Amino acid sequence: MELGITFLIAGSLALFVMLPLLSRDQEGQGVLPVDVTPTADLKRRRLVVYENLQDLEFEYKAGKIAPEDYEALRNNYRAEAAGLMAASLEVERADAGEALIEREVAARRAERRQPPAPDYRCPKCGFENPLPVKFCGECGAALRPAKKKG
Ligand SMILES: [Zn+2]
Repeated sequence: MELGITFLIAGSLALFVMLPLLSRDQEGQGVLPVDVTPTADLKRRRLVVYENLQDLEFEYKAGKIAPEDYEALRNNYRAEAAGLMAASLEVERADAGEALIEREVAARRAERRQPPAPDYRCPKCGFENPLPVKFCGECGAALRPAKKKG
């Protein structure tokens, strides 16, 4: 009888010690696949924490975990979840900032980009004059803007 109780205590202690290690292991494996954007990663980790919380709740209700252990673990998970939540917000804010900067840069680039030059290709020699000129830079032939044709 005494041995059995000792076993039980040792067993639950081992579980208590192993639990965080196990969950961390799962997390490590989960880092590898598919979506590796920081936002998705944080969201996934948060879900893992919530799952752990639910498991903890379940085990506590099943009488597998002592109230003080339950309290401590739950606080840990909640702190972790809160940290991940804050990190998510931080990443989202950074993403939004980056998107804003990118949009601004794109707008500046678009402004700087000059409208496509009209065709100043010489009808005589075929030289493509890079600037709007009246005479071909290559052969000196008079150029007429293509638009006024007809
Ligand atoms: Zn020419």
